[in-house]
Amino acid sequence: MDLLERIDEWGRTTPERPAHVSAGRTLTYGALLRRSDAFAAHLALALPDDGSPVAVIGHKEPEMLIAFLGAVKAGHPYVPIDTSLPPHRVASIVATAGARLTLTPEYVSQLADVEADAPGRRLRMSDHYYIIFTSGSTGEPKGVVITLGCLTSFVNWMLDEQSFKEREEVFLNQAPFSFDLSVMDLYLSLATGGTLFSITREDIANPKQLYQAFAASGVTAWVSTPSFAQMCLAERRFAAEMLPQLRRFLFCGETLPPEVAAELLRRFPEAMVWNTYGPTEATVAATSICVNHALLGRYPSLPVGRPKPDARVLVMDEAGQPARPGERGEIVIAGPNVSPGYLGRPDLTARAFFDLDSQWAYRTGDWGYYRDGLLFFEGRMDSQIKLHGYRIEIGDIEANLMALPGVRDAVVIPVGKDGIYDSLTACVVLAERLAGSDFEVSCTLRAKLGKRLPSYMVPRRFCFQEAFPMTANGKVDRHKLAEALA
Ligand code: AMP
Repeated sequence: MDLLERIDEWGRTTPERPAHVSAGRTLTYGALLRRSDAFAAHLALALPDDGSPVAVIGHKEPEMLIAFLGAVKAGHPYVPIDTSLPPHRVASIVATAGARLTLTPEYVSQLADVEADAPGRRLRMSDHYYIIFTSGSTGEPKGVVITLGCLTSFVNWMLDEQSFKEREEVFLNQAPFSFDLSVMDLYLSLATGGTLFSITREDIANPKQLYQAFAASGVTAWVSTPSFAQMCLAERRFAAEMLPQLRRFLFCGETLPPEVAAELLRRFPEAMVWNTYGPTEATVAATSICVNHALLGRYPSLPVGRPKPDARVLVMDEAGQPARPGERGEIVIAGPNVSPGYLGRPDLTARAFFDLDSQWAYRTGDWGYYRDGLLFFEGRMDSQIKLHGYRIEIGDIEANLMALPGVRDAVVIPVGKDGIYDSLTACVVLAERLAGSDFEVSCTLRAKLGKRLPSYMVPRRFCFQEAFPMTANGKVDRHKLAEALA
């Protein structure tokens, strides 16, 4: 049984079980099966059979799940887009993806209610399943293609390692579906006949509502960025009494601070805390480790774990040779979970992906080293950062800033401590003096940038300069700029 058949099987054997709960709405496995089949039949008629992607835009509505499965059943990979993105960014993603259709929850609910059989095609492992867009250093997002084979490799590993209880788990869905972290909760839940419990951005913006939602959720498996859990820990009542069924935290996407892991173990004595590591290009995660008191006592910074069994996770030195234990190098991931590449960008694909002894491999751009057989993450080799769990290319913000009228040059400096950032500052050289005070000009630039970029990429502070300091070889001296800001 492949992953899709497995999900459909829950629709036949447990049609009444909730597959998804979001903003007070419930989608059962029976309805997910019936409606995704009907939607696939509709798409098969509406689109040429060319495997072209279908964009799905929304914010955690049950219709998004129907659209995802319907698209894939009809032979079209889906591109999940969250409604928090501004129209300019959405348009750029839809155009780059070459999507012929952009589906909204309204569109899906109108069309997915008629009885119809799915086209009955069987997916091959090499078929494209979804495409997730991440920040690109030139100012345009890039689409990471994930095949059914990549996704299957990830899901099977997690099912083997985590021993979830079938038909009993409730998975927290914190990340919007446009981020690959959500693939962890969505597909582990659907594969095990579990319930996906989404919290919406309204819940997250309203702490009272959020903690009420948790208390009513029955969540057993928590999937989020460490940043989100850290935010929740600020609430004293965030503990086992609020989430009595919670047995496991699954983290990915950024450094898990040891003090966050320790506090979670203290407040949730019956839960395990897992740190997993990987980029979107290697399908969510490729290494994992269960963090316990012994591990916390041994290592001041937590390891990201051991490779999944069907993948190789290597640390390579500058000569492209495996680094010795303890020696720092670039983390390279090879295996069936590695994406075939970036959609429509053979240039970018050739730079980051390569054949490693007949296995497809990805250069992560992450520094790392092995110690005691465990992989440790040591920051980035380039100017990609994580800000509150979001992956951002600094060049993406700078390119979009420089596209604004009146801006001659722009440098964005992430602000934080020990590689953990909490805000962005934009240093800007204006082409001519814009009308208004610095404060007014920064408000104007922020508003204009917010029309091109998601809000988490818009710098909090702006500072205006006549010219940037330069290094001896003629590049902007970012260190000097950062020091001047500190
Ligand atoms: P994304 O594609 O959004 O999942 O981001 C991938 C990047 O996030 C990786 O290349 C790392 O730089 C970082 N990352 C992912 N997981 C971890 C982790 N457990 N600890 C530290 N950094 C991580």
